[in-house]
Amino acid sequence: MKILVVNAGSSSLKYQLIDMQTEKVLAKGGCERIGISGSVLKAKGNGNEKVYEKDMPNHKVAIELVLNALRDEGVGVIKSMDEIGAVGHRVVASGEYFKKATLVTPEVLKTLEEKTFELAPLHNPAAATGVRACMEVMPSTPMALVFDTSFHATMPEKAYLYGIDYNDYKTYGVRKYGAHGTSHKFVSAEAARYLGKKPEQLKIVTCHLGNGSSITAVDGGKCVDTSMGFTPLAGVLMGTRSGDIDASAVEFLARKKGLSHSDAVTYLNKKCGVAGISGVSSDFRDLEAGVAAGNERCALALDMFSYQTKKFVGAYAAVMGGLDCIVFTAGIGENTPCVREDVCKGLEFLGVKFDDKANAVKNDGSIREISAKDSKVKVLVIPTNEELVIARETAELL
Ligand code: AMP
Repeated sequence: MKILVVNAGSSSLKYQLIDMQTEKVLAKGGCERIGISGSVLKAKGNGNEKVYEKDMPNHKVAIELVLNALRDEGVGVIKSMDEIGAVGHRVVASGEYFKKATLVTPEVLKTLEEKTFELAPLHNPAAATGVRACMEVMPSTPMALVFDTSFHATMPEKAYLYGIDYNDYKTYGVRKYGAHGTSHKFVSAEAARYLGKKPEQLKIVTCHLGNGSSITAVDGGKCVDTSMGFTPLAGVLMGTRSGDIDASAVEFLARKKGLSHSDAVTYLNKKCGVAGISGVSSDFRDLEAGVAAGNERCALALDMFSYQTKKFVGAYAAVMGGLDCIVFTAGIGENTPCVREDVCKGLEFLGVKFDDKANAVKNDGSIREISAKDSKVKVLVIPTNEELVIARETAELL
C-alpha cells in the first residue's frame, strides 16, 4: 500500500508518498505561498525534480496540483489516484480530545475544528484545511490524523500539571501537552533497535534540537516527561522562542514595552531565543560563523542553548532513576557537533564517556554512536523521520 503524508501549514503544504512494503519514499515535495501571489510547487520523484509555478488560491488547488504531480510524466510515480491507500495528516495539537492517531469521521473533524484550534491557532486550522481539501479531491480515500502530542499522552499527572488551581486545569485544559512526539517516538525506538535492546529495557533522553527544540524522557519506551508545555513555547530557548520564562517577567516586559497579552506571546515566539540573545540569527550555522568571527553574543547564545539542554538531560536522568542512552536528532542535533559536545561534557558522573573524534564526523544520514565504546551511557545521533511515523500510524489504523 502507498500512503500519502500531508503536513499542511497556513500557507504551505509538504507531502511524501511512502510505499509501506519497503518504507521507501517514492515522491516528495511541497507547495509554498498558498493563498499569496507567487505560489510554487516543488516536486521530486522518479529521480527527477520539477518546479510548478501555478496560482494556488487555497489548499484544495494545492493538493490537486500535488496529486497531478504524483501522476505527471517527469516526476510521477503512480498511474491512478486509486493507488493511494490512505492519507496521514500531521496535526500539531490534540489537547485532551485525542490520545492517539485517529481516522477522520465527520465527528472527528468537528472536534478538531471546534475544540483544538485555540490550542494551536497557527497550525491546527491549517491541518484541518489540508484534511478538507484532500477529502474534496479524494472523497473515498481514508484519512487519518496523527498528532505531535500523542507520544506524550503517557506522561503522569504529576509531570504534565502546572501548579495552578486544579479546577482551572479541569475547566480549561491548561497543562503540558508537549510536541515533536512523532520524532521522539521514532528516534527512541530506533535507539533501542540500534542497541539491540527492547524499548522496555531502556531509559533514554531524546533531544530533538531544531528550529524548535524539545527534550523528552523515555522510560521503557514511554514518554514520562517532556520539555515543551501547553504550547511549543516552553522548554529550552530556541531559534526565536524564549523557552521557559517567569510569567511575572512577561507581564513586566509587556507593561514596559506597551504590548497586549497576545503581542507579548508573539514577542516571546518570534523575537527571542538565540536570535534575540545573539542579535544575529536564529540559525545555528550563522551563530557558529559568528563565534568564529569573535562575536561574543553568538557564543553566549550557543552556551545558553547547550546549558539549558544539559539541565533537562540531568533532570530527566533523575526522573527516570538512571540513564542508558542520550539521542540527538533534528537540524541541530544531527549537524552541530559543538552543541552535542557542550551538552555531554561534564556528564561523566552519569556514566557518559564522550568520543570527540566520532562526534566530529559529518552527518551522512546514518545512525552514529558518539560515545566511547566503554561508555555506560550510549550517545547516539539518529536522523529523525516524522513522515514515516505518520505513514506507519496511518497504516496501523487501516
Ligand atoms: P530543523 O528545525 O530540524 O529543520 O532544524 C533547523 C536548524 O538546524 C537550523 O535553523 C540550523 O540552525 C540547524 N542546522 C545546523 N546545521 C544544519 C544543516 N547542515 N542542515 C540543516 N540544519 C542545520
